[in-house]
Amino acid sequence: MGLFVLWMLVASIANSGSFCLTGLSYPDDDQNDPNYVFLHEATSAPAISYYHYIVIGGGAAGCPLAATLSSKYNVLLIERGGSPYGNPNITNLSSFHNNTLADLSSTSLSQRFISEDGVINSRARVLGGGTSINAGFYSRAEPKYVKDSSWDDKLVNESYEWVEKFVVFKPKIEAWQSAVRDGLLEVGVLPNNGFTFDHVNGTKIGGTMFDQNGHRHTAADLLRYANPKRITVLLHATVGRVLFRSKGNQKPVAYGVMFTDASGMRHKAYLKQEGLGLMKNEIVLSAGALGSPQLLMLSGVGPADHLRSLNITVVVDQPLVGQGMSDNPMKGIFLKTKNPNANPLVTFNYFKEPRDLQRCVNGVKTIEKVVASKAFSKFRFDSISFQTLLNLTSSFPINLVPKTGNDSTSLEQFCRNTVTTIWHYHGGCQVGKVIDQDHKVLGVDSLKVYGNQDSEQEAITTGWDYGRMT
Ligand SMILES: Cc1cc2nc3c(=O)[nH]c(=O)nc-3n(C[C@H](O)[C@H](O)[C@H](O)COP(=O)(O)OP(=O)(O)OC[C@H]3O[C@@H](n4cnc5c(N)ncnc54)[C@H](O)[C@@H]3O)c2cc1C
Repeated sequence: MGLFVLWMLVASIANSGSFCLTGLSYPDDDQNDPNYVFLHEATSAPAISYYHYIVIGGGAAGCPLAATLSSKYNVLLIERGGSPYGNPNITNLSSFHNNTLADLSSTSLSQRFISEDGVINSRARVLGGGTSINAGFYSRAEPKYVKDSSWDDKLVNESYEWVEKFVVFKPKIEAWQSAVRDGLLEVGVLPNNGFTFDHVNGTKIGGTMFDQNGHRHTAADLLRYANPKRITVLLHATVGRVLFRSKGNQKPVAYGVMFTDASGMRHKAYLKQEGLGLMKNEIVLSAGALGSPQLLMLSGVGPADHLRSLNITVVVDQPLVGQGMSDNPMKGIFLKTKNPNANPLVTFNYFKEPRDLQRCVNGVKTIEKVVASKAFSKFRFDSISFQTLLNLTSSFPINLVPKTGNDSTSLEQFCRNTVTTIWHYHGGCQVGKVIDQDHKVLGVDSLKVYGNQDSEQEAITTGWDYGRMT
């Protein structure tokens, strides 16, 4: 069994307490390009333009949000990356690790960042966001999450149908994956849920964003729902800040954004001042778990002392912006520079909670049993012990965490030494702290934040929900 697979299994059980398998290898081929007439390089954008809604970040939340809003309003979607279409590194999952995540160039689809804990991580820089570079695992939200988020069940179910119709598929299962599934059942990870999109405990075959021909589908495909006459999508357009105006004692109002195109030219887009019935024109930040709090701070909404230390004019002193970041084990983000292309500093405090460490240990123990199971025997090299596999994994340079202790038989230490991410980091703009239940940024007007969830499905659902209900 490859180390990557061992590590994915440990990570998945450590994070969810259940196992979900999807296909992992497909032939090379190109993706169908829908030839959207509304996709443009930002270099062709006017210096100044006006829209009812301005959406920043064309990722898992931003694409469905802009698509649904465009049924009634003029929408501008601004994305710092390029188009995902025609790029084999996006289309084929086989490119996922070696070609996409390992590309450290400034034009890479994936911008690497290393958390202050020493864990290597990635953020998307392409239309479709995380869905264009991720592993494509798809699961519906846990019912408890829907309830706790006060989402309307009926709407959530409608959103599932809307998304799953075009971008989610039943995976092809390879022999080794059947062996893992059967091994899990043999060692008691029950019930057997078969193939399901539902978020359930036990063993299941989940959904994938790769179709039967092995082509990736992304949130950018959801732009097919957009009204082409009412939407403009600008690529290679990096928003530097949201513009606010203040009058007397009233809250500062977001009224526009400033962005830079690939040639370094600056453009401004403003909210139209005309009325929309009861609705107010708005700017929506859907720039991801790191991008959204980073842009709030660059725009002057954040901890005042921190902003002043970087000569950023304070619009609202909001100490909780950037706090509460989690990567399924938590802390916060801070700006390193005023450059929107640079990563902020992020700390996650992996395994600070004893519960997280225990989950990892339990996960590794389950995997040991699966490797020893009858179902898995065809894939086992009996001459290599499980401990040897663990030692090999430990010796691999998968993170920059200083290795502690030398007890190679302690699973706690194995977990600490090999801590890595499955890229489900979220937070930074928490409900009740930075935004309200309607996603409005506290302390200012006409600005909302969407996305930042820990899975593509949750981000897509919130995006769809907002666009449909507005
Ligand atoms: C490598 C990897 C693997 C993953 N695997 C899975 C998986 O298998 N299953 C799953 O459910 N989830 C997975 N995830 C998580 C999932 O992709 C994210 O939860 C989801 O994409 C978050 O959606 P979002 O809209 O909040 O942000 P994103 O999808 O990241 O979108 C944010 C967008 O904003 C753009 N942006 C940021 N700053 C600016 C700016 N200043 N100006 C203009 N644009 C900007 C970015 O380029 C990006 O396109 C993975 C994530 C990664 C990185």
